[in-house]
Amino acid sequence: MTRVAIVGTGYVGLTTGACLAHLGHEVACGDIDEEKIARLSVGEVPFLEDQLGRLVAEGIDNGRLSFVLGAKAAVAGCEIAFLCVPTPQNPDGSVDVSFIETATRDIVDVLPNGAILVNKSTVPVGTTRVVEKVFEQVGVTVVSNPEFLREGSAVQDFLHPDRIVIGAEDRVAAGVVAALFKDIAAPVLVTDPVSAETIKYAANAFLATKLSFVNAIAAVCEGVGANVDDVMVGLGYDHRIRSDYLRPGPGWGGSCLPKDTRGLVRIAEGAGYDFRLLKSVIEVNEEQFTRVVAKVRDAAGGELEGRAVAVWGLTFKAGTNDLRDSPALAIAGLLLADGAKIRAYDPTVGTDDPPPVGLVDVLGDPMSTCEGADALIVLTDWDEFRRMEPSAVAERMANRAVVDARNTLDRQAWERAGFDYQGIGC
Ligand code: NAD
Repeated sequence: MTRVAIVGTGYVGLTTGACLAHLGHEVACGDIDEEKIARLSVGEVPFLEDQLGRLVAEGIDNGRLSFVLGAKAAVAGCEIAFLCVPTPQNPDGSVDVSFIETATRDIVDVLPNGAILVNKSTVPVGTTRVVEKVFEQVGVTVVSNPEFLREGSAVQDFLHPDRIVIGAEDRVAAGVVAALFKDIAAPVLVTDPVSAETIKYAANAFLATKLSFVNAIAAVCEGVGANVDDVMVGLGYDHRIRSDYLRPGPGWGGSCLPKDTRGLVRIAEGAGYDFRLLKSVIEVNEEQFTRVVAKVRDAAGGELEGRAVAVWGLTFKAGTNDLRDSPALAIAGLLLADGAKIRAYDPTVGTDDPPPVGLVDVLGDPMSTCEGADALIVLTDWDEFRRMEPSAVAERMANRAVVDARNTLDRQAWERAGFDYQGIGC
């Protein structure tokens, strides 16, 4: 059992804390958000994440998991502290490390001599070395341990990762951190901090590249009359390629890929390399939003001004209520800019929640969004949408046209109900 502190109790921090408590460690989670800590202290998880509520309740019940206000209170008396604070992007695409700076300033006088500070936030390459300079005066070793979990399956990904990466100059400290995860069956790669930080950016850049590639192939499929879904099945059987991240869609988004791809472009620039490949990957993604809007324009009769568009799905993918950099919001924004009137529904966005950027009309059920609509667009692949009865939807719509930007609906059933169906690449 190790005494662990978590600094920043968001998607990554809370998952890390709850899973480490589940693995038998004693974990104190700290955050500056008073409301978050109050809710967590009574076992209420403030965001949607499969299995996390169960692990938080388990940790509170067995006394291994606690929540405290502020980083200082969390790290007092710990052996290992994890930094899990945000690293958003600056307006110029570079990485904003101010949360890292504030948190480290906050804990430098409190972390016990001999403790290990582990950075899990995605940080510009070289940050661990900078943080190390601050902490070497107080006898604290700094280690990089990038996180690869996906929202929606964060607990599963944390407990069954493809690999654990530990970046440390001090191999003894690396071993202590590795021991925390000894009950997790995964390859452990111990490397230097700069390589560990680079692995995280390289992984996200590669995933984004795969997704943009699929959407580009989908555009080719539309041109030549191929079916992208079959093309991807054929591609995914190739073990050198693998089938993950081979689904076409409205474009990629979420809290990581957009900021991390732009971040890597800037990191590469700083290192004297013009990462043209990754710049194109980002451009292809932005084009995808426009391509989807063109499909909706077509579905609504060639014009968006004054047309009523029903939007199903706002989160960046199913299984999460995270709206950060959601392609659905980017596309909704473009539709609004072209004069469309939008009514949206998402199972995780309440009608009383503050409206997501510019979207005023969020309704409480998918059917009402279709009342008199000129087109329907599916932007998130929630199961609920697959279960909708197309003939019932058809009765509500002014015009039977659907753009399925996730290729998630049963095309034949929707066509039988009289819908003009457009998917992505098919
Ligand atoms: P988040 O915004 O969900 O959570 C961050 C938390 O840190 C917030 O609750 C915030 O209040 C808290 N915080 C900020 N400053 C603090 C301070 N000084 N002291 C204590 N708490 C503080 O962020 P996240 O999605 O968990 O991401 C955290 C990091 O992990 C980022 O660098 C991100 O890129 C990386 N990451 C995220 C994911 C993901 O899927 N969300 C996956 C892998 C890596």
